[in-house]
Amino acid sequence: PDDLGRLDLDDILGTINEEVRRRFGEGEVADYIPKLAEVPKDRFGMALAMLDGRVHEVGDARERFSIQSISKVYTLTLALEAAGDALWTRVDREPSGDPYNSLIQLELEKGIPRNPFMNAGALVTADVVLSNYDDAERMLLDFMRARSGNPEVGTDDVVAKSERESGYRNVAMANFIRSYDNLHNDVQDVLDFYYQQCALRMDCVDLARSVQYLADGGRCRATGEAVTTAEGATRINSVMMIAGTYDAAGDFAYHVGLPAKSGVGGGIVAVVPRVMGLCVWSPGLDEKGNSLLGRYALHRFTRMTGLSVF
Ligand code: GLU
Repeated sequence: PDDLGRLDLDDILGTINEEVRRRFGEGEVADYIPKLAEVPKDRFGMALAMLDGRVHEVGDARERFSIQSISKVYTLTLALEAAGDALWTRVDREPSGDPYNSLIQLELEKGIPRNPFMNAGALVTADVVLSNYDDAERMLLDFMRARSGNPEVGTDDVVAKSERESGYRNVAMANFIRSYDNLHNDVQDVLDFYYQQCALRMDCVDLARSVQYLADGGRCRATGEAVTTAEGATRINSVMMIAGTYDAAGDFAYHVGLPAKSGVGGGIVAVVPRVMGLCVWSPGLDEKGNSLLGRYALHRFTRMTGLSVF
């Protein structure tokens, strides 16, 4: 952080943008949620939200997209605030090595998901949020508007409906977890809340700002609130590092070296502790489900800036 001033961040973003645009077309758009299959692949945006409030952005950083699993960072934050360490009796915090929608470990581990960022774990945190907050959907929307400082943040009901109608695997997973008594609310209510959180639509600037509290000891710059404690922020960052990018978390640690969370909408948020929150977006995904060009952009960014937690 001390010699940050020597970096020309706009110049670096410009270089990354040019490199990424030459590679447009790589990767595959998620199509298991029919509505997401309609998103064009030739998009790239990147935004940095510095702790002093400055924002650097490039490309399609103001185009909204479906945040999908990035929402799991925020529901984990809310669930940890509500349940404290008891949360970890219901969901583990270990890397999985299996795809995000895998059911296999659930039986071996008796309904305790490996981590809060696999779908199974996110269903448990969604359940905790539902148990602890009245009108959880409204509360989460207000939470995201407050974190991003953007009152226009909203939910794409068409995407939520599309997933509700095609989410057979999540239905199976939720019922399976329920059979181990690790969901306490009505299964359909948990799924509905989960689809709503995934269907939030935000842009790179919104998301870079929204993840900034994890770079700043839990403090939200937009409102001055302590969203979580400094220790809470450290813990959430650590879970992002080991499990935020599906079963490519090892590869991300190696090539990017920042706590990060991806979603199948093609967004990835990342945190440079004490420096910035950032977000990249490009809809084409690699075989693990991470944005292919987003991952490349983050790799280039940490190489060019030297900003990595390692
Ligand atoms: N809503 C998606 C699902 O449950 C989220 C997947 C993701 O972004 O990882 O499958």
